[in-house]
Amino acid sequence: MTPLAPAPAPATSYVDGFDRHIDYLRVSVTDRCNYRCAYCMGETPVFLPKRELLSLEEIDRLATIFVAGGVRRLRLTGGEPLARRGLVGLAKSLSRHIVAGDLDEITLTTNGSLLAEHAAALFDAGVRRVNVSLDTLDAEVFAGVTRGGRLWDVLRGLEAARAAGLGIRLNAVVMAGLNDEAIEDLVLFAHHRDMNIALIEAMPIGRANRDTSRRYVPLSRIRAALERRWTLVDLPGRSHGPARYVQVEETGGRLGFITPMSHGFCQDCNRVRVTADGRLATCLGRADGVDLKPLLRSTASDEPLREAIAAAIARKPKGHVFDVTRPDLGGVDRAMWSTGG
Ligand code: SAM
Ligand code: SF4
Repeated sequence: MTPLAPAPAPATSYVDGFDRHIDYLRVSVTDRCNYRCAYCMGETPVFLPKRELLSLEEIDRLATIFVAGGVRRLRLTGGEPLARRGLVGLAKSLSRHIVAGDLDEITLTTNGSLLAEHAAALFDAGVRRVNVSLDTLDAEVFAGVTRGGRLWDVLRGLEAARAAGLGIRLNAVVMAGLNDEAIEDLVLFAHHRDMNIALIEAMPIGRANRDTSRRYVPLSRIRAALERRWTLVDLPGRSHGPARYVQVEETGGRLGFITPMSHGFCQDCNRVRVTADGRLATCLGRADGVDLKPLLRSTASDEPLREAIAAAIARKPKGHVFDVTRPDLGGVDRAMWSTGG
């Protein structure tokens, strides 16, 4: 497996006050989801009224403005993006920017439950890589964490995605007492199927804060446990996201560590998010940003939107303020499912 190439210098016009170049946009296409993962949502989330959600046309317009400003990578997320009707059509429309050479890729973060029906169409629409969230291979634990999800649906989705030719990275949030003892199995599952996998530290985001903090595991502990069995070789260079990768010598596969809690990665953050209702969130862990929807809905000119985006990015905070020892502080009330993970 080749080492990760160092990220090329971005040619973006979006630069913040700490000289970070923003060339990566994550768009939440819906706040709805068919799962209720314990670390993400409460049992009875209150979703936005439909009229508050951006239409697919509005998302396309906004993403196009970001691309014109130098964004090179676009991730569609949610909520569950595949639960939004027309998602594949949106990806297809946006892939015109790839064809024009203005965008490098469109990716998707999904819980995988609806992937079996959409994988081939996603590939046809120009998507080449998907991140699939899978925290456990134990059907009972899976049903518990997702509050009713069927592991089988995700496994089918993964097979369909592989058959369609999509590159896959699994995302697993590590939680004490739920999956922290079974990470090796997840890594083997991924690597035996040519998939990368990234482990994620649970963040105190949204209303699910208290339980998430209780289950928090620093990934240094998981890495130490894996190293008792495997040789992990740090890969030079960076991925385009927050993961730091190692190669597992014994499997030949890649394993990423995403450590927002124990090792901040804010200093080289290159991304911003647009929420399902059109707010530009410049930091996942802060309540900063600007509501773009009023401008989107009141003006046919893109110029005011361009200016609002550039001004908000210029004010992007230096970093998040999560503190796992103080779940009452620093957590953000705006949950992952509404912000877009
Ligand atoms: N529904 C899709 C999915 O689950 O992949 C996309 C949206 S989900 C909010 C995006 C990612 O955020 C998932 O990988 C999920 O595991 C992660 N996530 C959600 N809440 C989290 C939390 N409190 N801490 C860390 N990761 C979280
Ligand atoms: Fe839904 Fe993804 Fe949140 Fe789970 S993590 S509840 S699948 S949005």
